[in-house]
Amino acid sequence: MSPADVTAEQVRAAVADWTRQHWDPAMSLREWRTLLLDSGWALPSWPERWHGRGLPAWADELVGGELLRLGAVGTPVGSGTWLAAPTILAHGPDELRERLLRPTLTGEQTWCQLFSEPGAGSDLAGLSTSAVLDGDTWVINGQKVWNTSAHHADLGMLLARTDSSVPKHQGITYFVLPMKQPGVEVRQLRQMNFHASFNEVFLTDARIPKENVVGAVGQGWTAALTTLAYERRFAALRRPSYSPAPGRALDEARAEADDHFATYSWYPQRAGRPDLVIEHARAAGAAGDPVIRQAIARLLTLHRVSAWTAERARSARAVGARPGAEGSIGKLAASNIARESAKVHAMIAGAKGMLTGPDSALGGVIAEVLMSVPGQSIAGGTDEIQKNILAEKVLGLPGEMRVDKDIPFSQIQHRG
Ligand SMILES: Cc1cc2nc3c(=O)[nH]c(=O)nc-3n(C[C@H](O)[C@H](O)[C@H](O)COP(=O)(O)OP(=O)(O)OC[C@H]3O[C@@H](n4cnc5c(N)ncnc54)[C@H](O)[C@@H]3O)c2cc1C
Repeated sequence: MSPADVTAEQVRAAVADWTRQHWDPAMSLREWRTLLLDSGWALPSWPERWHGRGLPAWADELVGGELLRLGAVGTPVGSGTWLAAPTILAHGPDELRERLLRPTLTGEQTWCQLFSEPGAGSDLAGLSTSAVLDGDTWVINGQKVWNTSAHHADLGMLLARTDSSVPKHQGITYFVLPMKQPGVEVRQLRQMNFHASFNEVFLTDARIPKENVVGAVGQGWTAALTTLAYERRFAALRRPSYSPAPGRALDEARAEADDHFATYSWYPQRAGRPDLVIEHARAAGAAGDPVIRQAIARLLTLHRVSAWTAERARSARAVGARPGAEGSIGKLAASNIARESAKVHAMIAGAKGMLTGPDSALGGVIAEVLMSVPGQSIAGGTDEIQKNILAEKVLGLPGEMRVDKDIPFSQIQHRG
């Protein structure tokens, strides 16, 4: 099979053939994923040297779907597979690729993202967590916030400042932080929708081995942009539909997904639940109301058009394009749909939408929608930041005034 001109049908047939020969649900999940990685079918678009087959980008999604269709299991869910692994693959060095890609892609090591700080969210390059080299170890001090899943991650994708004498984007380094150590204190935050998915992470003389640097010292911003581009692309990922059949590998994969998605149980509500508006209107006896009907039609039109944009992004990926501006368009559309959907649910439910519990609108789902939708337009870069990206990168409009871009970080006046 020549990677350049391979067809979808050939890939589908080859992976099905291989899976029928090798899939055994009695294996442990780790054994199965090791076999899958060694075969190159875990992420077939990756280079042969790094667990792949050098196939076109579209092959990953196709093969993932085919493995599920055949009742088997693919790569683990979570930010390790979706963010850390592709960033390490893109930026190296080889020593980290050797050491970290395999345990990440078998699910032995889980990850969280330690980017945002109390004073650095949209202005991520303004971060002030410091990293100082002490012999063979980096010593880290600072505070991170909003860190999803940090309370059970093994490793953190950490951005920290290694040089304050250069402009802010140039003095950042991207580290791999071992989370389970005395210098790392993780405190869960309670949200207004009663879930606790995020954490504050306090770093007090936390230690990182010298070689745990992604890319190179001082070049963390470039690697961070790779992670953020993948984050926009994967914002809407769903739980894989594993076969309900018995078997150790399947049991372990289902448990892994249960554990992972427990943190994200409110994410469908965060997206506004446009899929529920018709059911909700019927249940509330409002499906005949002309104003509500108009609002539903407008929402579902927006939703359908956005699905076409996502399709366009998928086609771009299929021809090998890296995640780009269509990620920002899709993310902005998702925020608009979420807000519009929450508005329609509120029109239908009226004051009852504020009630929680089993006898409230759709068993409390609507109240959770209203409380969760604001998060959609913040996570992974706010709406305003997506608009800036689109204005500058797609429309070619003049750049935003950035007066602190070219002066040494140490000369910037900081908040607080
Ligand atoms: C559900 C969720 C999950 C998250 N998970 C993680 C995670 O796992 N790891 C992690 O590190 N972070 C995570 N975050 C943090 C997220 O990346 C930040 O919240 C986000 O980047 C915004 O930063 P901020 O909260 O500091 O807001 P700020 O940057 O302080 O922004 C405040 C307001 O000012 C606006 N604004 C700021 N700058 C500009 C500008 N230049 N032009 C126009 N308007 C501007 C913003 O749009 C916003 O409305 C998560 C956030 C959410 C909501």
